[in-house]
Amino acid sequence: MLKPVFWLALILFSIHFGAQAEAIGGYAAGCQTQSRALPLSGEGFQVVRAERQRYYGQPELIDYLQGLGQRLNAAGLPPMLVADLARKHGGPFEYGHRSHQSGLDADIWLRAGNPALPEQDMVNHKLYVLNRHFTDNQRRLIALAAQDERVSRIFVHPLIKQAMCRAYGDAPWLGRLRPWYGHSGHFHVRLHCPAGHASCEPQHPVPAGTGCGSELASWINDKTGELYNGPRKPWKPLLPAACTQLLAQKEAP
Ligand SMILES: [Zn+2]
Repeated sequence: MLKPVFWLALILFSIHFGAQAEAIGGYAAGCQTQSRALPLSGEGFQVVRAERQRYYGQPELIDYLQGLGQRLNAAGLPPMLVADLARKHGGPFEYGHRSHQSGLDADIWLRAGNPALPEQDMVNHKLYVLNRHFTDNQRRLIALAAQDERVSRIFVHPLIKQAMCRAYGDAPWLGRLRPWYGHSGHFHVRLHCPAGHASCEPQHPVPAGTGCGSELASWINDKTGELYNGPRKPWKPLLPAACTQLLAQKEAP
């Protein structure tokens, strides 16, 4: 009696996690099915370090980036340089950041220009001020990126959040800009779980308000994390069962 039920469950599982694009699990412990590759260049954007093959994402993320590129172009801004999205099937990177696992995260460099040159830090960490590379172009790029309703949050260096608060006052999307160390050469966009992605684990919503007051002040005043540059162990999270199966399958020769 149990056997047909088992097979039916297995078939439904395969259909469910195979045919349809889906972000599975959390941003830092997940994977993705039926991802799409962001074209290496298009209107208003260009992929950097394409050899890493981290330009895969859920259709919503690809659509978001292509739409943002078009809006940058329409605004007369230079093409954005898009760095890591996710691996084709998601999961943890061999090195680098912990998230970017479910096809809903993307790093965008703050500088524009030659994609072959390295990332440009916008912060003078010694004086703890933004440097001359951070201009109105960077502010407008981040503002356009943050205005999209699909965005859950964008991680930026605390000094960049401060600059955005100063430039945009009480714009409602400012709350999506979350201060986080290490985001002084790029910002990190994270989309909400798309509708219908039943296995996608959402992150808690950002706090109400712009986050420009006491929360930002505490980040600006406490530079402990900014100065810490210790070793980081490879991130080996406990993945959802569906991801363990998917990633093991794909890695087999
Ligand atoms: Zn990132």
